[in-house]
Amino acid sequence: MSGCEVVLLMGPPGAGKGTQATRLAKERALKKLSTGDILRANVAAGTELGCRASSIMDVGELVPDDLIVAMVRNELESMESLRVLLDGFPRTPGQADALDAILAEHGISLGAVLLLEVEDEELVRRLLLRAREQGRSDDTEEVIRERMRVYRRDTEPLIKYYRGGGKFHRVDGNGDIDEIHRRIEGILS
Ligand code: AMP
Repeated sequence: MSGCEVVLLMGPPGAGKGTQATRLAKERALKKLSTGDILRANVAAGTELGCRASSIMDVGELVPDDLIVAMVRNELESMESLRVLLDGFPRTPGQADALDAILAEHGISLGAVLLLEVEDEELVRRLLLRAREQGRSDDTEEVIRERMRVYRRDTEPLIKYYRGGGKFHRVDGNGDIDEIHRRIEGILS
């Protein structure tokens, strides 16, 4: 499978982006690029980026755009072909502009933007469950609510940014993992 493909998976924390992204990436031979995973790896490794990001992540705020954009640019430029599934990026209008610029430099455009939609109370329920199962430091109820506020304030405006382009799709994120996956496949096929 060759050629470029860039798919963007958006949605509030707990919507199931990571789970769906892992599966979709495997099936479509895309590289999953999750900014949250890369940041957590940097925190665990104690890199300079990790040290700067860790206290911000712990309170549920967003890591500054310049750090995130440099990190993503680095990842994309290390890839042989741009077949990528973006999970958790872009999260602000500034990041979306930067992504557009990077893609334009490579002469490619976004293949699809998928928005996973789930009700707030269900999101909190899922995240508290994940907290018990995985022990993520930003999965306490207080930080979860803050991450949801940050999503509504900084990331939701991106819906307007992408909605007009004909590549934007809303996906019902309720139900079991297989069901949601089938909905996404139905859109991409
Ligand atoms: P996630 O794993 O996507 O839920 O991200 C966990 C945390 O990492 C977020 O709450 C932010 O603090 C940080 N983070 C992840 N991706 C981004 C991004 N694109 N921009 C800014 N901060 C991010």
